[in-house]
Amino acid sequence: MSRNKRNIVYSTDSAFQKRCQRCGSYPCRCPQPKSLPPQQQNPRILRDRKGRAGKTVTVVSDLQLTPDDLKKLSKQLKQKCGSGGAIKNGNIEIQGDHRENILAELQKQGYKAKLAGG
Ligand SMILES: [Zn+2]
Repeated sequence: MSRNKRNIVYSTDSAFQKRCQRCGSYPCRCPQPKSLPPQQQNPRILRDRKGRAGKTVTVVSDLQLTPDDLKKLSKQLKQKCGSGGAIKNGNIEIQGDHRENILAELQKQGYKAKLAGG
């Protein structure tokens, strides 16, 4: 591990490139993101089948939730739709076209959800 010590300029440089744009540190020292209350959130619900071998999924994007809360909501939506799902890049994906179900559930919880795309 010590043989690269002379390359300190390069390692500093790569740390510089990876540093967080908000706090300027690498690793990031920002406070952990917090979940916003549903009333302050405007999640978008869309249907997607790009690159999924023709399978339709319903994607809920623009959520401001911690990973734990995201998991919790994802579980609720999966139960509501009686379908499987996953969390990808901060979005919740539910297998099948369940936009109406998901819209109703999110609105029931207080989210200002809306349908997007086609
Ligand atoms: Zn940061």
